[in-house]
Amino acid sequence: MVLTSLSPQENPSPAYICPLDQACSYLEEAARELKLDRNILEILSNPRKVVTVSIPVKRDDGEVQVLAGHRVQHCDILGPYKGGIRYHPAVTLREVSALAMLMTWKCALLGIPYGGAKGGIALDPKSYSIGELERITRRYTSELIKDIGPTVDIPAPDMGTSAREMAWMMDTYSVNVGHAVPGVVTGKPLSIGGSRGREMATGRGVMIIVREALADLGKSLVGTRIAIQGFGNVGSAAALLLHQAGAKVIAVSTGTGGVFSDVGLDIPALKTYVAQNRRSIVGFPQASAIGNTELLTLPCDVLIPAALENQITQDNVDRIHARIIAEAANGPVTLQANQALEARGVTVLPDILTNAGGVVVSYLEWVQGLSYVFWDEERVNRELENLMVQAYRQAIQQTKVRQISLRLAAYTLGVGRVAQAFTDRGLYP
Ligand code: NAD
Repeated sequence: MVLTSLSPQENPSPAYICPLDQACSYLEEAARELKLDRNILEILSNPRKVVTVSIPVKRDDGEVQVLAGHRVQHCDILGPYKGGIRYHPAVTLREVSALAMLMTWKCALLGIPYGGAKGGIALDPKSYSIGELERITRRYTSELIKDIGPTVDIPAPDMGTSAREMAWMMDTYSVNVGHAVPGVVTGKPLSIGGSRGREMATGRGVMIIVREALADLGKSLVGTRIAIQGFGNVGSAAALLLHQAGAKVIAVSTGTGGVFSDVGLDIPALKTYVAQNRRSIVGFPQASAIGNTELLTLPCDVLIPAALENQITQDNVDRIHARIIAEAANGPVTLQANQALEARGVTVLPDILTNAGGVVVSYLEWVQGLSYVFWDEERVNRELENLMVQAYRQAIQQTKVRQISLRLAAYTLGVGRVAQAFTDRGLYP
């Protein structure tokens, strides 16, 4: 399948694993399993709209730098486009396109009336001041003003962005249209219509899916040994909730290093340490240092990659000891590594299911905003729990009915629902 509307790979290195090629391979596998009409597959393989804008930003020293900002809208057959905004040096148009496609299947799998989108700017947020980041975010929003909106495309935080960037986006959009539009973004601060529970939502969803998977193996979270790569929004929330549920989080890592404790890390103390040490976990007392490569290959029950794509590859898959891998990040396990893990009987909990908690609570935030009724955190968490467990159960049922892996089951459910909508709506004109 050729993705006709995008240029060839931007990174020609032979070692480069293209996230878009991987996303298309999973789609094709699901299409084969579903015996999908090839015309529908052709439509689903291509994003509906690809936007790249120039973002000129005045640095604090007066220099003007021009950044490229992307927004890819993959499919809106089920509702408005939905997807995060990523600030990371490795952002490319093909990566953003892959992530947009994953959002389409994720929303459909969770039964949420949204389509899939993603945005990103290739920058390292740590190299910019807060003022510069604000100017970048506002200009990016302004350039996309005709492409986003509460019934059109609703951004949310992703890697390198947070409630702060969502507030700037909401304000810029609102000032431009002349009135407050809280529904243009989700994951925004409570003060402007954010939802209780949103900050922890993706991590909470990860905890729920890991808990369910363990229960299916006759085990519980109590005493389960877990290693987590990434201690940002998703990784730190998952670590805290798993710790509170009785699991032993034995190792966590970030871009600058990791920490290990055989008896389990004190996660609340680690979070406090990070807050006091410029977001670094390095040097945390009562723990030894550990590298990222070592963390991935630690003997443990559950490995949670919660940082970047392509972390478990052909190069290290034979050294992975975990019995369960929970994809909290998007695409952390490559296609080939996934096949090797499945052949070894390792349970891989796929990203479109495992990290869906964020978009679920984004949806709940949107629903609360539209109805002008705001819920307490208990209600939000309860609704999240119900939707996550329901999607997990449906995916497990699909593995049994079709005798397929959990990843393929999740994909067939997501892709199948979107394909059904195309069949029912028909092709315009
Ligand atoms: P974040 O920016 O808050 O945190 C990323 C973490 O990864 C940081 O701790 C960073 O130090 C670490 N990291 C970066 N490079 C690393 C490396 N080479 N090795 C080890 N750690 C490294 O990002 P986030 O929002 O937590 O997102 C993490 C992943 O989860 C991404 O793949 C994202 O797409 C996915 N995701 C996020 C959400 C959300 O709600 N934020 C929702 C769904 C999926």
